[in-house]
Amino acid sequence: MRSLKGHAAVVTGSTSGIGLALADALAGAGANVVLNGLGDLTAIEAARAGIEARHGVQALYHGADMRNPAEIADLIASAHQAFGRLDILVNNAGVQHVSPIEDFPIDQWDKIIAINLTSAFHAIRAAVPLMKAQGRGRIITIASAHALVASPFKAAYVAAKHGVLGLTKSVALEVATFGVTCNAICPGYVKTPLVEGQIADQAKARGMTEDQVMRDVILAAQPTKRFVEYNELAGLALYLASDAGASVNGAALPIDGGWTAA
Ligand code: NAD
Repeated sequence: MRSLKGHAAVVTGSTSGIGLALADALAGAGANVVLNGLGDLTAIEAARAGIEARHGVQALYHGADMRNPAEIADLIASAHQAFGRLDILVNNAGVQHVSPIEDFPIDQWDKIIAINLTSAFHAIRAAVPLMKAQGRGRIITIASAHALVASPFKAAYVAAKHGVLGLTKSVALEVATFGVTCNAICPGYVKTPLVEGQIADQAKARGMTEDQVMRDVILAAQPTKRFVEYNELAGLALYLASDAGASVNGAALPIDGGWTAA
């Protein structure tokens, strides 16, 4: 299936985890992609070259820091300049910090709100005029089950993820008549570096062992008792990006094994 052949996609935070898997899946469907994110430049180059070699598309890398509005605007403008179009924006970059509210570090609050919420505003703000002019566009934000329900010790993350749903819904109403859609995917737990880091943090905050956190905290929330897989997220993102997804707009789509049904 090369249903996105010739389309151009930007995936923020795509040097690792979910973002890298989604960039790979979009490229697999024929889209040219711009990778973004932090990390070791040799590893990033290997990931970029691997996508090009596997899928026969163009893959570029832009190192915009998602805390910096001017760099985010440049990421979107550069993608449009390189490919002459911008069809798909995936707002995926995200970070986490786990702490009781009374000790929550102020700099961690600011960082999480900047990367998990405000960066999506800047990217969408820059992308919407390009998509409106094209008469087609797909904005997909990777929110979280934590956009729909809360957990203790994650005040900044839960606030940012709930915020991103408000942003998604508001933009969806503005772009609806322009062939553009704006949706949020709300994954449950996926075993990425972000979650592996949380296991240790949660153990400290709750006074539990790491094994107890895996069993009694993380997978306790997920009725399937297993992590969500990358290919399951990719299937939903590819659907939203396709023509078949044209009437799904302003939606928050859980893919969480039933967590938020409880
Ligand atoms: P990850 O840590 O594997 O990847 C995060 C990506 O964001 C990396 O590419 C990193 O370089 C990038 N990033 C971080 N700070 C950045 C910055 N300042 N500028 C640019 N890029 C930056 O994490 P992940 O688990 O793949 O998470 C991806 C998204 O999915 C996040 O928004 C996260 O909240 C969301 N999510 C994850 C899970 C899960 O269980 N892993 C569940 C629900 C939602």
